[in-house]
Amino acid sequence: MTENLAMEASTETTVTTSSETPKEQPKQLTRKQLGQLRRSYYTVVHGVVRTCSHKAKFSATQPPKNNCVSCWVAFFATAVDLEAVHKVLTEQGVKAFTKTYGDKYVKNFRGFLAMTLKPKDEPKEVTL
Ligand SMILES: [Zn+2]
Repeated sequence: MTENLAMEASTETTVTTSSETPKEQPKQLTRKQLGQLRRSYYTVVHGVVRTCSHKAKFSATQPPKNNCVSCWVAFFATAVDLEAVHKVLTEQGVKAFTKTYGDKYVKNFRGFLAMTLKPKDEPKEVTL
């Protein structure tokens, strides 16, 4: 049986806003990407995490105390110096990273990366 199905899935979302730059597919966590993450995941509005309505009780030095995924995502997207975190991760490895930040942090960071990057290829820069 020869099926000749065109694999043209209509997954492309064409945004025709004149002032917007076309979205690129994130492949790995790069400097540029980090900046884009910050902007595209603007999840905290007026001190409230938009996706779960929790109060954003976190800051750059204080991660969320709860286990709410949305809060953690918002925390990483808005309060965390992702470049610094990424640097520790790539230069010192997961062990050092976990030691510095703690299990919970690492676990949530993994989730955050998985959620935001959705790697199609193997993530080479960040392998947790
Ligand atoms: Zn929350």
